[in-house]
Amino acid sequence: MDALRSIRGMNDILPADTGHWQFLESRVAELLERYGYGEVRLPIVESSALFSRSIGEVTDIVEKEMYSFEDRNGDSISLRPEGTAGCVRAAIQNNLIASPCRLWYSGPMFRYERPQKGRQRQFHQIGAEIFGYATPDADAELILMLARLWRTLGIADAVNLEINSIGSSESRASYRAALVTYLEQHRDALDEDSQRRLESNPLRILDSKNPETQLLLNDAPALVDYLDEDSLEHFAALRRYLDTAGVRYTVNPRLVRGLDYYNKTVFEWVTDKLGAQGTVCAGGRYDALVGQLGGRDTPGVGFAMGMERLLLMLEACEQLPEARSPDLFVVAAGADAHEAALAAVEGLRNAQPELHIVQQLGGGSFRSQMKKADRSGAALALLWGEDEVAAGEVTIKPLRDGQEQVRLPVADLSDKVSTLLQQQTH
Ligand code: ATP
Ligand code: MG
Repeated sequence: MDALRSIRGMNDILPADTGHWQFLESRVAELLERYGYGEVRLPIVESSALFSRSIGEVTDIVEKEMYSFEDRNGDSISLRPEGTAGCVRAAIQNNLIASPCRLWYSGPMFRYERPQKGRQRQFHQIGAEIFGYATPDADAELILMLARLWRTLGIADAVNLEINSIGSSESRASYRAALVTYLEQHRDALDEDSQRRLESNPLRILDSKNPETQLLLNDAPALVDYLDEDSLEHFAALRRYLDTAGVRYTVNPRLVRGLDYYNKTVFEWVTDKLGAQGTVCAGGRYDALVGQLGGRDTPGVGFAMGMERLLLMLEACEQLPEARSPDLFVVAAGADAHEAALAAVEGLRNAQPELHIVQQLGGGSFRSQMKKADRSGAALALLWGEDEVAAGEVTIKPLRDGQEQVRLPVADLSDKVSTLLQQQTH
């Protein structure tokens, strides 16, 4: 029979890598807590309407990337393609935003995309949202926190911040009209995708990857000339905050983002280390979203980072921590020795709970067990043979440097292990 395989683009994360995930996740979680964010754990499945009403009916995500299906009662439900919509829904439903608050979440997201390096169908994000502040200091605080994160992780030199303002929905509407008028005159020069977007979502043409389209856009009307006064001031203040803090950025006038809920600030952290999948973290302001989803009007601003891409970055920048080897590997030859070893090792774990101890189970020859001990990378091997058992003793064999092998009463094991491990780290 053929073995069953995982769904394309949905990968297992295996022990060789989970240490890296835990490292990254704990660094991000620590920083978020220090900035006053509380963690929310949200459902992976939500009603489909949540996403069409927030992300937007005519976005790539909702049009062609969502995993939507009928629940057994006929309701349309979807695997979440991103976290902000669910976070806002939860914040409204649980009345978390009666006063300003900071929330963060993490977990898998699902989009039906073509799998490639840095792009999966199940991928993972950590995201954060600030609710209740319309002022640009909130946008700035988010960005400063992220800049700090990149420094902590040792990848600050490998990422660049791009920012833009997409203004109010009114200013976007008048810009949209001007852009469409211009692009209509050059319709034939647009690729099929952009022609389709001309009707449905023309602003998305701005971040087309097609070089011909980009050339055409050089002479197109610019979004910045259509921005309202309030948005311009907001953007200027944000730039001042970033300048004062010494955070470098590029204003990218064509940055629009692929989700409809944004207004004013949008930003992305990009890298040239990951090929085409260059955006590692992205976000922006969404002052109308809470109202749109049925809550009392509450401004919001947030971001999400792609964990797979960040791990690729950490690897490219050689910032991943080394895997931890065990401190001790336990070898016992014979049934009596196994019994004695198991009891002694439990005693050792009671005395020093922080030790990493791996015990060879199920027997095997002394020689083959010793080979496994060597390969484990452990600092010390603990050996029990018939002689040791008869004498109530244990042999400690250092596996790394010039320490001598010693045999001693089991009662002295814990002290001796401490001494030997300490000598090895100095
Ligand atoms: P892209 O332009 O790369 O498709 P996006 O604008 O669709 O990204 P967002 O919805 O803003 O991405 O999600 C935030 C981050 O989540 C991205 O910057 C990226 O790091 C990550 N991300 C998005 N889609 C995927 C995916 N299919 N696989 C892996 N990571 C992803
Ligand atoms: Mg995308």
